Amino acid sequence: MDPSNHAEPFLVFGQPVIGEHEIAEVVECLRSGWIGRGPRVGRFEEQFAAFKGVPGAAALHSCSAALLLSLRAAGVGPGDEVITTPLTYCATINAIIHAGAQPVLADIEPATMNLDPAAVRRMISPRTRALIPVHFAGRPCAMDELMALSREHQLTLIEDCAHAVETECRGRKAGTMGDFGCFSFYPTKNVTTSEGGMVIAKSADHLTAVRILAAQGMTQDAWKRFSSVGSPHYAVVAAGFKYNMTDLEASIGIHQLARVEANWKRRERIWLRYREALAGLPVTPPALAEQETRHAYHLFCLLIDEREAGIDRDEFLARMRKLGIGCAIHYRSATEEPYYREVFGWREEDCPEALRTGRQTVSLPLSPAYGEREIERVASAVRTVLLRPAGAGSAAS
Ligand SMILES: *Cc1c(COP(=O)(O)O)cnc(C)c1O
Repeated sequence: MDPSNHAEPFLVFGQPVIGEHEIAEVVECLRSGWIGRGPRVGRFEEQFAAFKGVPGAAALHSCSAALLLSLRAAGVGPGDEVITTPLTYCATINAIIHAGAQPVLADIEPATMNLDPAAVRRMISPRTRALIPVHFAGRPCAMDELMALSREHQLTLIEDCAHAVETECRGRKAGTMGDFGCFSFYPTKNVTTSEGGMVIAKSADHLTAVRILAAQGMTQDAWKRFSSVGSPHYAVVAAGFKYNMTDLEASIGIHQLARVEANWKRRERIWLRYREALAGLPVTPPALAEQETRHAYHLFCLLIDEREAGIDRDEFLARMRKLGIGCAIHYRSATEEPYYREVFGWREEDCPEALRTGRQTVSLPLSPAYGEREIERVASAVRTVLLRPAGAGSAAS
């Protein structure tokens, strides 16, 4: 079990687990002749709504679309400010911009990497209309505090649940606490449909608005228009988008969701094993899941402080890659991104905790596809790289 053995295949970050059921369903869907939005999307929506314990869900092309349509359905637009975290994928911030609103960042709590409610409070202005917390890595945000703030200031609360399909907070499921919950089924996420997203909403009217906006602003979708169940008429009631999920994508999702609990148990095991492997090493492991919460274990992020580890984050990534292990970065602080700096004038010192975390964080590859052999390969490579920091191991590379 020598981690530097190059005969071992490269471990790709975020490898999805696609089973025979998914493959068979996709083939059946292709043979059915209905590959656009149709009955399989309906089934997937019902299954997802049941999983979340809500009356309905709207399947979309992506979580990016889910975030944008949630903002639009809530009436957020030009002149409004939306508060979110700097430690997120750019899609969260871009959705706010595409809604015509102004993104405003509040810093994170370093221990959880989630939005700090006190920082959110400081950023609230008379123009603030909405708040988008991200359950980072699958760890639930401080929802009690964020919900109280939203109520107090009448903000629309949109949960970015891209990492958080399985996440729970004191018995409440991620996505059901805010006004909207937005999910991603991108290939690296815990449940995938290749590309895909889902919206759930507290208000039935909001969910209907999302459905209409996802179908060009038409009040009835093609499945009903062209099939035997509906009338051929529709009305365009908004300038909408083309953001629907297809039956081909839902074919994958139906069977992915059926395995979500088994995969979660596997993820938890791997996550805890990685944590064990870091014991005694000069890095910061992710905190254990808080009491009365369920972590989705989407990402395992450790922090590497060069002054303690003797190696910086980028060097760690490079050396892991040489050992055949693909790590990733989630994320550089949004205050470091050139476009946002130019347009919004964001500066590094705006969110110091996110800045530091973004420069030190690295995500180990974590897939329920891994057997014991892969898990031990990753754990042992981490130890090899960190126990022989800067210089000591360079002869071997
Ligand atoms: C992946 C991701 C998104 C975007 O999801 P897509 O389905 O790729 O559009 C949004 N927010 C976060 C936090 C993500 O990780």
